[in-house]
Amino acid sequence: MKHEFTAEFMRTNKKAAIVIGRTGLLVWLVVIAVLPGCAPTGMRGSLVIVGVTAIDPASGAVTRNATIVIRYGKIASVEPGGPLPGDVARQVDGHGLTAIPGLWDAHVHLSKARASAISHLIAWGVTSVRDVGGDPEELARWRREIERGDRVGPRIFMAGPYLESAERVRRQIASDDVEPYRKTRWPVGQSADVDAVVARAVAAGADFLKMRTRPSPEVFVALGQAAQRAGLKFAAHVDGLAPQHVIDAGLDSIEHMLPDRSSGKTSLEQMYRWLAETGGVITPTLVTWERSMLPVEDASRAIEKAADQRLISAFLLSDWREQLGERRNNAGLLEYYRSMYEKNLQAFRAARSAGVRMLAGSDLTVLTARPGAALHAELGLLVSELGLSELDALRAATVWPSDWMERPDLGRLEPGALADLVLLSGDPLEDISNTRKIRAVIAAGKLYDADALTLLKKAARDAPDVAVDDWGRPARSGRD
Ligand SMILES: [Zn+2]
Repeated sequence: MKHEFTAEFMRTNKKAAIVIGRTGLLVWLVVIAVLPGCAPTGMRGSLVIVGVTAIDPASGAVTRNATIVIRYGKIASVEPGGPLPGDVARQVDGHGLTAIPGLWDAHVHLSKARASAISHLIAWGVTSVRDVGGDPEELARWRREIERGDRVGPRIFMAGPYLESAERVRRQIASDDVEPYRKTRWPVGQSADVDAVVARAVAAGADFLKMRTRPSPEVFVALGQAAQRAGLKFAAHVDGLAPQHVIDAGLDSIEHMLPDRSSGKTSLEQMYRWLAETGGVITPTLVTWERSMLPVEDASRAIEKAADQRLISAFLLSDWREQLGERRNNAGLLEYYRSMYEKNLQAFRAARSAGVRMLAGSDLTVLTARPGAALHAELGLLVSELGLSELDALRAATVWPSDWMERPDLGRLEPGALADLVLLSGDPLEDISNTRKIRAVIAAGKLYDADALTLLKKAARDAPDVAVDDWGRPARSGRD
């Protein structure tokens, strides 16, 4: 039965790959939606995993030979050797496997990655994302499609647009960069504008706010306060700001790098303590730093390899080539990244020692950070570079982002949590790189077994946006 489905899927999928453009996209969407191997457990009976080692990163508890019962999209029970319920619809043999909660990538830009990346994420065990800047209209549509079951993808929590200084947006629009900036960047001019900006972002479906550049520290602080008034979390880049600005703005999440130690009377150490007390986090995106420090020729080879293997969209390919061009034209950039990285690494370690939580984020769309794969690279770096324990690295991609988003029903492997899980053939507490050994993924209660994951990756490679740029400015679109 299943193999008939598979053969039919392969035939249909091939068709979808050939027919590109709007019709092709529709065919592909339908194909993605009826992917075989997915056992929807919301309907009747339970999905049961037996004999598995279950890790709950929230408590740190490890349950051996566990029976996990999933019913109506939720985890009903996790019991050692527990008896099987009477309503088993599908049983998965978990002997030799380790179950962890579905992973978060806490720093992605899905619009720039395009739709093909969305299914890649599920294949890599990423069942939730924090999208920190893109086209809000499109992101809201993808989110609806995923929630309805019309598209396979992670739960999307989004900032909506990137908020930027008005001057920066003017320059971006005037540039000949590939990104359609008018869709993704919202200008913030002065402090008097901030409440209107927040209201507009809420109307566009924003779950939190993200500011990238700002006209002045005062506007940054005003925006943070407006976000607080609206009950939204605030994430931002803070280069060029002082620790005191971070505190005054009530910032909830620092992205990529820390503020400048030399400005202002508040020290970084005071800011770390404040972050730890208020539940503020740092998303260090170490993988972005690592990739930014790649020699140009290595980056160039990685880009062409990803293109050959159809692992990224045509738009992302042109964006990466643009980033590479910038690198080629600025010989000092590599040295700058190296010196900043060392400085920030020390600061991240100090922040962690002060009790600040770290979120695992790949900055998907930065040069050579591939959808899904880059998150696993980040987990490795959190351990090797920042010295996080394997358990804390898992927390950075499960319970900590869930807590930040105020979703205690996610990122946990306990009764009552939503059924997002990854089954691994290795123990990530022994070696964090075992998070890559994915044997099955359960997203919103649906099981994607090994065959389904293979098909999902194939479907992502055959997606229309991989063949043709469906987003960038027309003059630069297409593969060459
Ligand atoms: Zn980013």
